[in-house]
Amino acid sequence: MGVFDKARNVSHLGDADGDRPYLCMRCEATFQVQYHSCPACGGYDVRRAEWV
Ligand SMILES: [Zn+2]
Repeated sequence: MGVFDKARNVSHLGDADGDRPYLCMRCEATFQVQYHSCPACGGYDVRRAEWV
């Protein structure tokens, strides 16, 4: 039973990058939080990876 509980706990986090669900569309850097502009490349297209 414990194994199934653990699997269900992680499944709700999404299937993209787990704890880094935000993705820069320009340089493909991933982040734990959503930035207005990408700290890596300065691009303004940072969105949740699971929405792509
Ligand atoms: Zn970027």
